[in-house]
Amino acid sequence: MVGAFERAHIMALNIVYCPRCNSDHVYRHGKSIAGHVCYRCPACLHVFQISYTYEAYKPGVKEKIIQMVSTVIPPVCSKLASIRSSTL
Ligand SMILES: [Zn+2]
Repeated sequence: MVGAFERAHIMALNIVYCPRCNSDHVYRHGKSIAGHVCYRCPACLHVFQISYTYEAYKPGVKEKIIQMVSTVIPPVCSKLASIRSSTL
């Protein structure tokens, strides 16, 4: 079990992992135009941010949108196809 001191220490450390290779050897790499801190991973040379101005830029949001669309679109397409075939 993690005590209050350890929890505070972990929160103070704020360990950052590379979203591409999951390495914890990242370092600060300046700031974005919007003022958010940028990090750089020396292992894969990926430059990334932890916080974004817009939620849509966060890692994983694009994949979620694609997954949601791919689950919704096929039923809609099949419905449209059935309507077209019945009307023709
Ligand atoms: Zn990396």
